[in-house]
Amino acid sequence: MKHRLFFSVLAGYVVVIVLGSAGMFLSFRQAAGREFRKYLLEGQQMAAARAAGFVSEYYRRIGSLNGLDGFLKSQLKDPHMGMGERPMMSRWMSGPGRFVVTDPDFTVIADTSGRLAPGQKLPPKTFGGPGPGLHEMAVPIEQGGSIHAYVIPSLAVDPRLPPEDRRVLETMQNGAFVSLLLVIAVSIAAAAVLTLHVVRPVQAIGGVVDRISRGDYAARTAFVRGDEIGALARGINQLAASLAQAEEWRSQLISDTAHELRTPVSLLSGRLEMLAEGLYTPNPEELAKLSAEVQRLSALIEQLEGLSAFDQGAYAPELKNLDAGILAAERVKAFADEAAARNIGLRNSVSEGFFVRGDSLKLGQVIDNLLSNALRYTPPGGTVEVSMVQEVSIEEKGPFIELRVEDSGSGIAPEYREKVFRRYFRIDKSRSSHEGGRGLGLAIAREITVFHGGVLWVDGESRYGGARFCLRLPGAET
Ligand code: ADP
Repeated sequence: MKHRLFFSVLAGYVVVIVLGSAGMFLSFRQAAGREFRKYLLEGQQMAAARAAGFVSEYYRRIGSLNGLDGFLKSQLKDPHMGMGERPMMSRWMSGPGRFVVTDPDFTVIADTSGRLAPGQKLPPKTFGGPGPGLHEMAVPIEQGGSIHAYVIPSLAVDPRLPPEDRRVLETMQNGAFVSLLLVIAVSIAAAAVLTLHVVRPVQAIGGVVDRISRGDYAARTAFVRGDEIGALARGINQLAASLAQAEEWRSQLISDTAHELRTPVSLLSGRLEMLAEGLYTPNPEELAKLSAEVQRLSALIEQLEGLSAFDQGAYAPELKNLDAGILAAERVKAFADEAAARNIGLRNSVSEGFFVRGDSLKLGQVIDNLLSNALRYTPPGGTVEVSMVQEVSIEEKGPFIELRVEDSGSGIAPEYREKVFRRYFRIDKSRSSHEGGRGLGLAIAREITVFHGGVLWVDGESRYGGARFCLRLPGAET
């Protein structure tokens, strides 16, 4: 189902809203009933106290409470009659100030609400129970030191609310119920908006992830948000961009590899066909050329294997403490003849005692690559110098060693200084790969450097006007 998340999150909200609101409503209902009753009872207690004076007066005048019920009823019918009480009193007695008059044994003498008949004995349960007992609320009518009667608030005797009070309570409770329904409706609408706010981007991200998983790396999420969902969307976009780039590099790599293989392979196959057809008799010189071509092919395959080992994380040499100064000096020596043959001054300014942890074969390969490039791209009569410094760096936690190979060649323009480390990248593509390399040397050198926890870069700071390659490696304990 398309909107499953939306409905399930919203359903969660609805359950919480409804349960919470219903709970609140029920407790409000109970509290309202209890407080309303308490309020009425307080009013009645005040009324009972006042009525006690009135009943006392009746007793004093008549000498007994006989006929009190009839008297009170007539009072309620005609407020102007009687013992000079204010007309207000009668309305009070039948309204909020209802009371019951009983004899000392709690047998009803009169009830202003008319619900209890005279002569009725109050049930014993009304004397106790929760809240104040009947005794506490009954106002005694005393004369000559003895109790003749009690005036009791009506609610203390009979918990049923009279219709008009019940109506007030119900109106209050119904109002609260309508408010509850309104609150539920508004809360659910707000929850739906909130849920949409969260679910919509998640659905959009889901759609983009789906497209990416089907190979559509151009898919991007369009919305901008500063929260975690926004960060997720940005992450997905970056992932898609990285995948697109990786895919581009992959296809570029395949086509470059095919291109690099095509030339020597077609040369070799052409020669072999001619040989098979008897059109070509190989002489030692020709055979040496063909063999060189085969060697170049196998060197290329070796380089590719090396790169793929790095890509797959399969490169795991044993690292040892080694003197980078000695290693560099050895490698410079190995290039002495080539430099002399090309009339290039090869200077060695490294000294011993610069220790790193590494694989001497691989680090030697990096230095070889830098030296062979420097010699290759420096015209005869030029200079190539190898130097080394040891520095203490705060950010890199410890000392590092920097090997510099600088030449007086053409140098590398700023826009190519990062690109030369890409696979198959050559600045001058027209240069035949016999003359230059295949553009893999620096890519491999950088992989090796990164593996050793170092950095390899090129700048235009050569003291001889050409390129300067810097290889920085973390120093090791001697
Ligand atoms: P290649 O095997 O082609 O030399 P590299 O990866 O070693 O491949 O170098 C990539 C490219 O960088 C070279 O083709 C060349 O254009 C450029 N380059 C490398 N070293 C130098 C240098 N010392 N001076 C000028 N250009 C250089």
